[in-house]
Amino acid sequence: MFQAIEELLMKDEILVDGSMEEGGGQILRAALALSMSLGRPFRMKNIRAGRPSPGLKRQHLACVRAAGELCGAEVAGDEMASRELRFAPGPLRAGEYHFAVGGGGSATLLLQAVLPPLLTADTPSRITVTGGTHVPCAPPFEFMAGTLLPWLERMGPRLAATMSRPGYMQIGGGSVTVNVTPAKALVFGTDFAEAAKNEPGPTLETEALVYAHHLPDEIAKRECAALLSPEFAALGLSDSSICVINGRNGGPRPEGAGNAVLVKLRHRHGVTVFGETGLRGRSAETVAGHAACRALRFRNSNAPVEKHLADQLVVPLALAGGGSFVTETLTPHCRACLDVASLFTSLKPELHPVNGRKTLVTLR
Ligand code: AMP
Repeated sequence: MFQAIEELLMKDEILVDGSMEEGGGQILRAALALSMSLGRPFRMKNIRAGRPSPGLKRQHLACVRAAGELCGAEVAGDEMASRELRFAPGPLRAGEYHFAVGGGGSATLLLQAVLPPLLTADTPSRITVTGGTHVPCAPPFEFMAGTLLPWLERMGPRLAATMSRPGYMQIGGGSVTVNVTPAKALVFGTDFAEAAKNEPGPTLETEALVYAHHLPDEIAKRECAALLSPEFAALGLSDSSICVINGRNGGPRPEGAGNAVLVKLRHRHGVTVFGETGLRGRSAETVAGHAACRALRFRNSNAPVEKHLADQLVVPLALAGGGSFVTETLTPHCRACLDVASLFTSLKPELHPVNGRKTLVTLR
């Protein structure tokens, strides 16, 4: 298989080094998305070299397989723990798809890999992914639906996401559907540029969600108390702006136990969601405190683009032919995405500090 693909691809294939920057799965997902969108084959080595258990894990394999299915790609190296992959995309086929990540692998991370090419496909798509919706080190559903997708809509497509069931670490079983009405092309227009470069202004509304399924009531209570503590009074949360979702007050129930805290800030550019997942050994106060601290830090930075959003905007911006945004903090994830974008396109990243910690990121 490898041999055949080697002969097929050697000429135009792009080499991606998965050990660059933080050396995580984001490099793979960005490469898959760009490869499918631009019809350019790639070979990736050192997959997830920066992680304690390098190579493809179930979640990354699910991204590769889903991407492969969307465009009839020829793929080699798509095995558990593989550190090398070859991916030669065929023509994209938009439509209705169901993908399963398996276990608590993140459903939203799979969407990161497959959504970009569908944003400009010839026909609409409806993608359902089962897996984790609130798992560590991945965008929680509310971030994807409430923060990322509205930013992508500023580039032209229409997007709507629903979660029919949450899914947590280990067991997963959550389900997310995204409907995509594509645009002719992604555009870095005034609407996006305005929001991406200007200060978001004062917070217009703050809300919080506390997910606590199949867990003692005390956990959600302590998280609510932490969010309402004097330390985070500047967020302006109150009893009535915090909603506890535990399955006993209606709504779908997940298969396994899980906990997540989400703080949502609404400002004139839209909503920014700060999510933190509960883990065994991490106190309820720490989970809520992390989400609240990140929200406060973001608000104090006066930057329009939150740090996780920043890396997730790079691929769409590259597909729009370039653009720029101001982010609160430049992360290795964002740098890695910029590097991958410059491998697949002729765009080059430029980074300029703005008033201390903020960074103006430009793909030109
Ligand atoms: P990786 O660590 O390479 O697998 O990439 C993780 C991806 O998840 C990156 O795109 C991060 O920006 C994103 N991510 C991780 N945590 C969050 C969070 N709390 N909110 C939004 N996005 C997140």
